[in-house]
Amino acid sequence: MSASQPLESSPSPEPPVTPQGPDIPTLLVKIFGKDRPGITAGLFDTLAAYSVDVVDIEQVVTRGRIVLCALVTAPTAGGTTEGDLRATVHSWAESLKLQAEIISGTGDNRPRGYGRSHVTVLGHPLTAESTAAIAARITSTGGNIDRVFRLAKYPVTAVEFAVSGTGTEELRSALAPEAAGIGVDVAVVSAGLSRRAQRLVVMDVDSTLIQDEVIELFAAHAGCEAEVAEVTERAMRGELDFEQSLHARVALLAGLDVSVVDKVRSEVRLTPGARTLIRTLKRLGYQVGVVSGGFTQVTDDLKERLGLDFASANTLEVVDGKLTGRVTGDIVDRAGKARLLRSFAAEAGVPLAQTVAIGDGANDLDMLNTAGLGVAFNAKPVVREAAHTAVNVPFLDTVLYLLGVTREEVEAADGLVE
Ligand SMILES: [Mg+2]
Repeated sequence: MSASQPLESSPSPEPPVTPQGPDIPTLLVKIFGKDRPGITAGLFDTLAAYSVDVVDIEQVVTRGRIVLCALVTAPTAGGTTEGDLRATVHSWAESLKLQAEIISGTGDNRPRGYGRSHVTVLGHPLTAESTAAIAARITSTGGNIDRVFRLAKYPVTAVEFAVSGTGTEELRSALAPEAAGIGVDVAVVSAGLSRRAQRLVVMDVDSTLIQDEVIELFAAHAGCEAEVAEVTERAMRGELDFEQSLHARVALLAGLDVSVVDKVRSEVRLTPGARTLIRTLKRLGYQVGVVSGGFTQVTDDLKERLGLDFASANTLEVVDGKLTGRVTGDIVDRAGKARLLRSFAAEAGVPLAQTVAIGDGANDLDMLNTAGLGVAFNAKPVVREAAHTAVNVPFLDTVLYLLGVTREEVEAADGLVE
C-alpha cells in the first residue's frame, strides 16, 4: 500500500465479494437430531472427502437437540458430483440417527438488511402469546428477525432478537406500547460496535440502587415518617418542585443526632441484583456512578462499599453533632442529575451515546433522556412512558441483559473470580 492510500477504505455500495464468488453453486447442509459429541467433526470429515470450502456455519443446541447448518461450495474437484456428496452425507446422518437436508443454491447468505438493532425481551414468565405479539410488531415495522437466542432464564426469561431492515427508533416506538400492554419489558438498542465499547452506567439511588427512600429512613428516627412520605410521593409524581419538597422534608429532620447517619447507613437495603450488576459492569470495564436527590452521608458510604467510580448527592448540614434541617451546596435535582451524568461522562471519557442511566422517579427523567440508553426501573408511569426502555421486574441485574450480557457469562465470571 502506498503512503498516499488511506489505511481504511470508505464504505462502498458494492456487495462484499466472498473468496468463493457471488454466483458459484453452494450447498446448504442442515443436520438435525439428538446432540452428542463429535457431530460437527463428523459432518465436516464427511464433507472433506469432496474438497468443498466452508462459506458459513451456524449451530444451536436446544434441550439436547442440535441444528447444524453448513453452507459449503458445491464439489467440483476430482470428478465427484453433488449427488455423491448428498448420498454420503445422508448415509452418515442415518448411521447416527440424524436427519439431513441438503439444499442447492448459489453464493453466500443474502446480506442482512440495513438498520440493525437488538431487541431484548424480558418476561416473568415469557409467554408464547407475548412473544407472538412482539414478533408480529417487529414484522409490522418492516423489520426482519435474523437471529434469536436466550440471554437468561433467571431471574427472568430474557431473549434477544437481532433485527434488521428497520430503524432503531422506529422499532422502539412501535414496541414500547406493545410491551406495556402485554406485561413484558422490551429494550431496543442499535447494533454495532458502540454496544461493546466501554460505557458508563449512572444510577439513581432511592428505589433504584436501594429499595428504600433514604429520607424516609431518617424520618423514622425523627418520628415524622408520614409527613415526609407524603411529600416524597408528591415530588416523585411530578406534582411538587423537587427543591422545595427537599427543603420541606429536610427541615423536618432538624435536631436529629448525627449518630443517626450510621444507623441509616446500616438500614439501607440494596435492590436484588444490585451487587451482581455492579460487579459485572466493573469486570467489563464499565465505570459506574450514582446520583441522588438524597444525601452524600449515604451515597459516599455506598460508593465506598460497592466500589463505585462516581457519587453525587445533597449534603445534610451538621452543626454541633445535630442535623440542622438544611442542606449545603448545590442542590441535586432533576436538571442536576442530567448535568452530573454529563460531567461523569466527560471525566470518564465516555461519549454520552455510550452512557446508560437507570432511575425510577420524575426527577430522573432528564438524566434518562440525556443518556444513550435510559432505563426506567420499576418506575412511576410518567417515567416509564418517557424513557427509552423500562424494566418492571424487581431485579437490577436484568439491566445486564439489555446490554447483551448473558446470565451464563455473569455466572462464569463469578465462578472464575470467587
Ligand atoms: Mg428514585
